[in-house]
Amino acid sequence: MPENPDGIGAAFAPHDHSHCSSRALNDATERLATEGGRLTPVRRRTLEILLESHRAMGAYEVLDRLAAEGFGRQPPVAYRALEFLVQHGLAHRLQRLNAFAACLHPGADHQPAFLICSECDRIAEVPSGPMRDALGDVASGAGFVVDRVTVEAVGTCAICAEARA
Ligand SMILES: [Zn+2]
Ligand SMILES: [Zn+2]
Ligand SMILES: [Zn+2]
Repeated sequence: MPENPDGIGAAFAPHDHSHCSSRALNDATERLATEGGRLTPVRRRTLEILLESHRAMGAYEVLDRLAAEGFGRQPPVAYRALEFLVQHGLAHRLQRLNAFAACLHPGADHQPAFLICSECDRIAEVPSGPMRDALGDVASGAGFVVDRVTVEAVGTCAICAEARA
């Protein structure tokens, strides 16, 4: 994963989110241009919906939004668009929430880790390299080959902690 341009935890501080979303959309368009994927209207709209906030969305929530905008009410409409975005690294699937989040730096392949606030559902994508390396070392000591690591930490974000104080 490239350096976190806004710093880890930027999602948990007040900020001008239009910068996040427009940059991510830009990077996504560039990446697809390189890879040859096509950002059809429904795929683009799905990405824009995911980019509206630092929260993950379930497929049905996305489908409701797409249906309200005239893209149809069939679940495959949302599932196919989300699958495309995940496949091309423009969005990630969060196992724990069974939901999807737009990738905020889709420029390069990476396996993210997530911080998930249990109070407001905000999420932040953070680099998982060091954790995966450490786990890989432990695993290989046990003769185990790791294919995939999912790191999702649940807790309280800075905004909620402050509101509580
Ligand atoms: Zn933002
Ligand atoms: Zn990402
Ligand atoms: Zn929170």
